[in-house]
Amino acid sequence: MSETQSDFLIQLNTVLSAEQLEQRAEVLLENSRDFGQFVGDPIMPLAVVYPRTVEDVQKVMRLAYEHRMPVVSRGAGTGVSGGVHVTGKCIVLNLMQMNRIVEVRPEDEVAVVEPGVINYDLNVAVSEHGLMYAPDPASYKMSTIGGNIATNAGGLRCAKYGVTRESVLAVDVVLSDGRLVHLGRNTFKGVAGYDLTGLFTGSEGTLGVVVRAVLRLRYLPVDERDISMLFPSLEAAVLGVQRIARARVQPAILELLDLPTIEILDDQYSTNYAAHGGAMLLVRVDGYGAEKEEAVLRETFENQEVTLSDSGADEATTLIEMRRTSRGDTKDDAYRMGEDIAVPKSKMSDYVRELRQIAYSHEVDVRVIAHAGDGNLHPTFSVEPGAGVDPLARLSKALEGSIRLAIEMGGTITGEHGVGLIKRDWLSWEQTADVLLLQQEIKALFDPRNILNPGKAL
Ligand SMILES: Cc1cc2nc3c(=O)[nH]c(=O)nc-3n(C[C@H](O)[C@H](O)[C@H](O)COP(=O)(O)OP(=O)(O)OC[C@H]3O[C@@H](n4cnc5c(N)ncnc54)[C@H](O)[C@@H]3O)c2cc1C
Repeated sequence: MSETQSDFLIQLNTVLSAEQLEQRAEVLLENSRDFGQFVGDPIMPLAVVYPRTVEDVQKVMRLAYEHRMPVVSRGAGTGVSGGVHVTGKCIVLNLMQMNRIVEVRPEDEVAVVEPGVINYDLNVAVSEHGLMYAPDPASYKMSTIGGNIATNAGGLRCAKYGVTRESVLAVDVVLSDGRLVHLGRNTFKGVAGYDLTGLFTGSEGTLGVVVRAVLRLRYLPVDERDISMLFPSLEAAVLGVQRIARARVQPAILELLDLPTIEILDDQYSTNYAAHGGAMLLVRVDGYGAEKEEAVLRETFENQEVTLSDSGADEATTLIEMRRTSRGDTKDDAYRMGEDIAVPKSKMSDYVRELRQIAYSHEVDVRVIAHAGDGNLHPTFSVEPGAGVDPLARLSKALEGSIRLAIEMGGTITGEHGVGLIKRDWLSWEQTADVLLLQQEIKALFDPRNILNPGKAL
């Protein structure tokens, strides 16, 4: 450890209490990465810091700025893009202890929260007022509001209620030099100045530390109807998504599962869906019109080659929960790479067809789950370690092919997980040099010493 680094740690000790500064090996390891792929040995941070107040964060950032010490802000570490992977000497600012719901104002449909509040806990708290916080990543029982904001997380209900950005009205942010700024407003509407709240939503810890947020809530739907639809093939299920749109039904949830994903769920939950179909749509309609929308859906798929769950049965609700709690991960030894592209909805059918072709030509397997209402697909390629020549290289080529295909079809390299560390090389495939430069300039403006999650997102 260099003299500057140890001097920094000594000074940190003087501004925080002993239990707020962790250097035990197991804690450093736990905080060294997220759920994203990591190649090689883990790199340890110098320390993990647990702020409890906004002032704590300010004190830490002032010292980090002075000592040019990189800082990785961290929520629950459920990110899948390596956004919190430690890549060099740094401290991890773990925000999980700043987890107070500061205020719920039901009459304004607003909640004010600290960044470490778990998405699920907020939803439980506001439900007693007949309200919900709509963005619900499948990780909602684990992930934090701060992490959701920093990644502009999507989720199942985003098909109807929009992604995180549409629910963030204001954020308090500690800047790289320790200054505290309040961005945004308490009202749903407001157009004064540039949309800096929007800029911070999805900035992946590279522009500042989110220490408080004012969130828009929605009314809890008075009625919810869940329907599962088992189709003979993936192509038929994608066409099913288009039929739902043409029927002008607006699902709150519209998830797509292909056969290999259904097989994994069957295996995990001892069900037997794979024997009866090749792909599944999980649909939720909600609100006062739910009954009517369900009726329209049933009429739309009448006499089609598709099996719908019975009305009122809890089968589809259970399936939605199964989908939420599983990304279809399995515990075998196969090499596996998963992705998060999005394409315009009209291209989903073509994308899925060509995706299979890509997997076939590189002799790897592919399975797909999708937030189909948003055109956001999560293909996962896999191959057995001993299968053929250089299986890892074939896997990478298939993955790259799937990313290029998404861009060719007018889509994006990441629909909701963020660029993090893992997708940086692909950013220039999607964005021009001018746009990349503009973003570097914005980063330099907010973080002139490049200490906020350096090497991520851009
Ligand atoms: C099983 C599973 C299902 C998932 N499903 C979805 C899904 O449906 N939709 C989806 O979008 N994602 C999903 N994800 C990915 C992940 O849960 C989200 O990206 C989530 O928003 C991350 O929140 P977190 O608290 O874990 O943040 P972390 O992983 O700790 O951090 C994520 C990023 O945010 C930054 N950050 C965290 N807190 C702050 C803060 N207070 N201020 C500034 N920067 C901060 C970090 O530096 C990092 O760049 C899933 C992950 C898993 C494991």
